[in-house]
Amino acid sequence: MKRKISIIGSTGSIGVQALEVLEQLDDKFEIYGLAAGNNIELLNSQIEKYKPKKVCVAKNTTGVNFAQVMSGEAGMIELASDKENDIVLMAVSGRYGLKPTLAAIKNGIDIALANKETLVMAGEIVMSEAKKYGVNILPVDSEHSAIHQCIKNINDVSKLIITASGGPFLNKSADEMEHSDIKQVLNHPRWKMGKKITVDSATLMNKGLEVIEAHHLFGMAYDDIEVVIHPQSVVHSAVEYKDGSVIAQLGLPSMHIPIQYAITYPERVEGIKSKSFSFAEVARLDFEKPDFDKFPCLKLALEVGRVGYSAPVIMNAANEEAVYAFLNGLINYNDIYSVVQKIYDKFSPSKLDDIDSIFELDNEVRCVTKEYLAKIGVV
Ligand code: NDP
Ligand code: MG
Repeated sequence: MKRKISIIGSTGSIGVQALEVLEQLDDKFEIYGLAAGNNIELLNSQIEKYKPKKVCVAKNTTGVNFAQVMSGEAGMIELASDKENDIVLMAVSGRYGLKPTLAAIKNGIDIALANKETLVMAGEIVMSEAKKYGVNILPVDSEHSAIHQCIKNINDVSKLIITASGGPFLNKSADEMEHSDIKQVLNHPRWKMGKKITVDSATLMNKGLEVIEAHHLFGMAYDDIEVVIHPQSVVHSAVEYKDGSVIAQLGLPSMHIPIQYAITYPERVEGIKSKSFSFAEVARLDFEKPDFDKFPCLKLALEVGRVGYSAPVIMNAANEEAVYAFLNGLINYNDIYSVVQKIYDKFSPSKLDDIDSIFELDNEVRCVTKEYLAKIGVV
């Protein structure tokens, strides 16, 4: 029998690539639901092509070629938690992924998780709910997919090694970085992704968020998670075992593979045929330690992960607002870090027990960040 899948964020970079993967797997999957934000044109073409049973949009349902369109957060929650789903791909960006993910978990639906903010904001709650309801959280993020593929028994693992391409500024001077414009920041050398994550990949905040994500997914202490710069993005991450063996997952950079592995797990299927891998063609693999002075967002995120409690919620919300201010041309590249650090310092981390308090704090941090941006004269 075909497994039913819904894609939350079908019009984004991950969503579109997931549909490409699913086109090759139509003997295994039925596309049950699609949820998009505002790109109605693309959503309409997806509706025509994939004929989902349920459709949801962020706000405005006008112009959507579908009989009964759901909308807003309530619609996304309803679609994600619909018991017809066997699996939900959470490919929405930002904080919007958290509530639908939790609702799906409560109904016993497996999650293919791309939305890293879900674990950064509420990793403890999400993982304990997943355990309680016997739900698999299958990582889509390429590094976490790599680690997932390398782990046989987590109790034998002594260290996770997360690779980072280093983004567009790896070999640029501090001066070049300071004067870089949006186009340069969005020009990622290896991956084509949504704008928010592409900016985070330039500051390396993305890698910091991924360390927090890995801490929750695999239950590893921060001291046992290492970040290494690997510009070729061929080794997607690795694990070190207690006997000193290191197992890495390699492949040409492509999100099709981790997306497919997450939704077909534990099976491996041919799916979208990728070019066969050749060590000789790759020729060389370089590794170096990250430069924390050049990438202070990474340093901050690693500290924040260790602090725990509400610290990641504060940093994540301030970062998202700062990144959007940068994308709207309101602040410069270097201001992203200084705004995040400034806002982070204004709050004291506290223990948050439920989702409502997490969202309350998230909203407060966003308001304070916007006020701060207005005060320094940029909004
Ligand atoms: P994109 O910005 O390309 O896509 C985001 C998707 O979310 C779009 O479909 C967008 O709809 C939808 N969306 C945004 N806001 C809302 C809302 N309020 N309600 C409903 N839908 C909404 O992002 P990516 O695909 O790049 O990333 C998605 C997630 O996956 C992020 O959390 C990212 O960190 C993570 N990720 C991405 C990777 C990548 O390679 N791209 C790799 C690893 C993780 P619309 O466009 O219609 O407005
Ligand atoms: Mg990643």
